[in-house]
Amino acid sequence: MSNVLVNTIAEVRARVAAARRAGRSIGCVPTMGALHAGHGALMERARAECGTVVATIFVNPIQFDVQADYDRYARNLPADLAFCGERGVDMVFAPALEEMYPAPAGTFVDVPETAQYLCGQHRPGHFRGVATVVAKLLHIVQPDFAYFGEKDAQQLAVIERMVEDLNFPVSVVSVPTVREADGLALSSRNERLTAEQRRAAPALYRALQSARQAIADGVRNAETVKGAALPALAAEPLLRVEYFEVVDPRSFHPVAEVAGGVRIATAVWAGSTRLIDNVFCPAEESSARA
Ligand code: AMP
Repeated sequence: MSNVLVNTIAEVRARVAAARRAGRSIGCVPTMGALHAGHGALMERARAECGTVVATIFVNPIQFDVQADYDRYARNLPADLAFCGERGVDMVFAPALEEMYPAPAGTFVDVPETAQYLCGQHRPGHFRGVATVVAKLLHIVQPDFAYFGEKDAQQLAVIERMVEDLNFPVSVVSVPTVREADGLALSSRNERLTAEQRRAAPALYRALQSARQAIADGVRNAETVKGAALPALAAEPLLRVEYFEVVDPRSFHPVAEVAGGVRIATAVWAGSTRLIDNVFCPAEESSARA
């Protein structure tokens, strides 16, 4: 299947307006490219639910706290276009840097409460950059539905809060994390792992599952939950834990005691590659007694 590549804001707006006049609903899938099956799941969901699907591909400089990470972020537009075509995406908006930021950004969106801990704490300015670019993309595309992965659960919470607080006329749809057979969450950064790091990386998901199991077994104290999970990570000398937290699923503030649904989230370094992952532990599971 073929799709239309659009580079300018004016052309996206014109094409989306035409689709809307034709009575079609609009779905938007924001990405930074280097597309994989995780992005594919978002596109397929959008394809199933919307008349017109717009994918955006833009490596957003203002969300990178480390310049080298931005510089070496994988970019491959021809492969990404083919990928989108195979998933029935109608339009790919892939703007140049100057189209999105003709001048350095002078306005930013901050969601400080949701961004206070975890990735927000360890990557200063990251969520401000994310919220700002997603606000811009939602204003440019003006979709009815916007699709985000649970893989980046704190990002999803930040965007939900922004949409709610600032009355964006869009429904945010969350899509479950797509994983490799050994549990590693798909990520554009996985391809940077050495063979040895790749072998160690599934420990993230194993640790998260141990934490979830501890909660299902009746553990309520967050430190005890972490104590059940961290040995899986400590056993891998190639991994260095940045954070491992049990948090409220909406605010992303760490909890001391589990009461109701929680999300367990971790960030781990493998050499110079940072991996994140998380699992949700629903209220029923956390209120079940051993
Ligand atoms: P990125 O290109 O990394 O900015 O990701 C674009 C979108 O794809 C975000 O909403 C991510 O949460 C989502 N995504 C990335 N990896 C996965 C995955 N393994 N499973 C589901 N969604 C994902």
